[in-house]
Amino acid sequence: MEKEIVVLGAGESGTGAALLAKAKGLSVFVSDCGKIKPQFEAELESAHIEFESGGHSKERILLASEVIKSPGIPDHSPLVKALKENNIPVISEIEFAGRYSKARMVGITGSNGKTTTALWAYHLMKKSGLDVILAGNVGNSMARELLVHDPEIFVLELSSFQLDGMDQFKCHTSIITNITPDHLDRYDYKFENYVNAKFRILNNHTKGDVFVFNAHDKEIMKRLKEIKYPGHRCPFAFDDVYGEGSCVDGDKIVINTPRYHFSMNVREVALPGKHNLSNAMAASLAALSMGASPEAVKEGLTDFPAVAHRLESVAEVNGVLFINDSKATNIDSTWYALESMEKPVIWIAGGTDKGNDYSVLEELAVQKVKKLICLGEDNTKLLEAFQKKLPSIVEAKSMHQAVELAIGAGRPGDVVLLSPACASFDLFDNYVHRGELFKEEVKKHEG
Ligand code: ADP
Repeated sequence: MEKEIVVLGAGESGTGAALLAKAKGLSVFVSDCGKIKPQFEAELESAHIEFESGGHSKERILLASEVIKSPGIPDHSPLVKALKENNIPVISEIEFAGRYSKARMVGITGSNGKTTTALWAYHLMKKSGLDVILAGNVGNSMARELLVHDPEIFVLELSSFQLDGMDQFKCHTSIITNITPDHLDRYDYKFENYVNAKFRILNNHTKGDVFVFNAHDKEIMKRLKEIKYPGHRCPFAFDDVYGEGSCVDGDKIVINTPRYHFSMNVREVALPGKHNLSNAMAASLAALSMGASPEAVKEGLTDFPAVAHRLESVAEVNGVLFINDSKATNIDSTWYALESMEKPVIWIAGGTDKGNDYSVLEELAVQKVKKLICLGEDNTKLLEAFQKKLPSIVEAKSMHQAVELAIGAGRPGDVVLLSPACASFDLFDNYVHRGELFKEEVKKHEG
């Protein structure tokens, strides 16, 4: 029997990979231990791809020539361990799809800011008239996009889990936005392993390739000193003016590449907060490295639309602005949200704690927060961390209650900020569900 490719997990990336494999004439079998979403099941059926759900046929899978693993499946799951013991290559959907593309690749990773930077880089290149497609963790999978068109450029948001299964794949421009501890449960609780995964984005770089990185990030700088990076370094930073790269010099964002030098006022940049200036610098450098024009980059820095659930302004109710930052699922992202607030804050936080150290937020919270609304099933840690530090702390057990409390406490000129610093799975399906409910509750009070 001809050896088959097995796809583990039939989400967006798994289904995309299976469809691409089939289109390329490979024999493919899809296995998902959970329930497959009806839309993906229908696609597999109509492409005549064999699949199973609710469990894995281990014997069959162990006969595969290669396995494409969805990023959600951990390496320490028994099946993946067995595959590795049997020397069956386990790769990610991007590694697989990359074999069928001639595009130049922009890969974006980091602990925070991946989606925003990927969308922004795409926006700048699109504005320049380049033939570019956005894929990876944002939008459709790369494999699915390739069924329709192989563009000149792919912009790919890459999680560390995708990078884990990438070996031969090469990005021509790679961005690391920052590295702070996250997902350590998948990396044997070793930060070093997580950093290693992020640095896989530089795999196969040679002299002509470009590395865009945050020069303020201790972990990135430390690692960069240890490796012999052969490509072109393109840092971005605050305060420091580097020879090449991008920086914020006073109230100007400065871009300096071998071909272009220009600057613009930071107030013209579309999104708020210092972190978004970092994202803007990274996106600009990547876009320019792919041939975007400086005119389009300048324009695209000013008219980039807000990204849902990331410091997204929702509405003003009785002079109080409501901001949805539901995607802030770790301490670092919430730090930047609080840092960017210029008015008294009613802060809604909490959820599934991922081993958070709240002391990092203390200084900013004490300066800016007038009331903390803890929205989680178990708020003990959050209450303990801020009890004696903030003027007022209350608990809420639903989004409805949290917004009611915020409405009651808000005075004209205040801001209500949903920036949880925690995952959402205790009370919500995911961060999108949490953010959508927040918006719904707020909008009930509008007008
Ligand atoms: P990711 O895709 O890496 O999760 P997002 O762009 O979706 O990143 O943003 C996730 C959260 O992090 C949001 O709360 C957002 O406001 C915040 N954020 C965005 N960019 C940065 C950055 N460069 N540094 C820190 N936090 C950021």
